[in-house]
Amino acid sequence: MTETLRRHRLTIAAAILLAIAFLLYSPRVVEIHEFGGATMGTTYSIKIVDLPSGLGVEEFAQAVTELLTHVDKEQMSTYAPESELSRLNRSPPYTPIAISAEMAEVLGLAIEISELTDGAFDVTVGPLVNRWGFGPQTSVADVLDARIPSQPEIDSLLQRVGYRHLQLDRQNLTLLKTADVYIDLSGIAKGFAVDKVAEYFDDAGIASYFIEIGGELRIKGYKPGQQTWVPAIEKPVDTAPQVHNIFYANGESIAVAGSGDYRNYFEENGVHYSHEIDPVTGRPVSHNLASVYVIEATTARADAMATAYMVLGAEKGFELAQRLNEAVYFVTKSTAGDGFEDRYTEKFESYLQVR
Ligand code: ADP
Ligand code: MG
Repeated sequence: MTETLRRHRLTIAAAILLAIAFLLYSPRVVEIHEFGGATMGTTYSIKIVDLPSGLGVEEFAQAVTELLTHVDKEQMSTYAPESELSRLNRSPPYTPIAISAEMAEVLGLAIEISELTDGAFDVTVGPLVNRWGFGPQTSVADVLDARIPSQPEIDSLLQRVGYRHLQLDRQNLTLLKTADVYIDLSGIAKGFAVDKVAEYFDDAGIASYFIEIGGELRIKGYKPGQQTWVPAIEKPVDTAPQVHNIFYANGESIAVAGSGDYRNYFEENGVHYSHEIDPVTGRPVSHNLASVYVIEATTARADAMATAYMVLGAEKGFELAQRLNEAVYFVTKSTAGDGFEDRYTEKFESYLQVR
């Protein structure tokens, strides 16, 4: 073998080794796939890192659209006259009604959260939500004529409110209403839908995702390069969205929901009427709590708890959050000026740092 040939062979061998080394050590290009759309009177946006092989993002986008349409229009919406919930609301009391497994699951959780929050969260508050103008509207004129209901009117609507009027049989999938109740799932359904999308992704073997419907989140894994997902706490102002604070998922699977009185409200004679209704007084809550964020294992639970805290207010809410050892972040309007004051539980504090 000549010297040149030997050198040539060595060069080829080195090149092959280099190529193998490159294949082994070069970071694979990991993409974030994004899609979104409209659902439940709001928008959704989804980020998936690293699709399972052989599947395209379009297939996932299509499946998510179908899933959300099902949960919204066919099951939980009070805006769709033929949804399961609308039919349930029209059906007479004292007759057991057959319900879907999903409806049983969401109602079971709703009742559990009502018990946990002493009735601050109550899906039977629907008649009052509608009367105060925050439901699927009857007629705008009706509402504007006498936007603020009289006390006797509130008292009469309160007769139909109370989660104890719901007798749920989770084994046999039936619901018995013991009063003429009207159920509104707006305080929990978005979170529930997020969980359904997460379940679907988990089953499909997706290791990292960020699911958001109308601000309610479910997060898993890391962004490319082991970067933590960084959810934001929105500034409680009704202008264009601004970041108030951020926190870190740190690779944990977490669910987050926020509630606030700063987007969905109306003002009359200088009074601010929020879409969160206190099921005890039958009136929109009025206190200095501007928004609240809850981190939980499921988004449905976080969603319902966030609504409950908005009803309870900063003082009682903080007490309950501590007692339950839940990760909760409260933003209150400060008494002086137009600033905000933040208060969070110990459990939430651990998400304020990168770990
Ligand atoms: P958002 O829709 O802004 O995320 P929430 O999750 O707090 O807010 O849901 C608020 C909606 O829940 C209201 O628009 C109303 O339909 C319903 N709701 C209002 N008060 C209550 C309550 N006390 N318990 C359960 N649901 C409520
Ligand atoms: Mg809610």
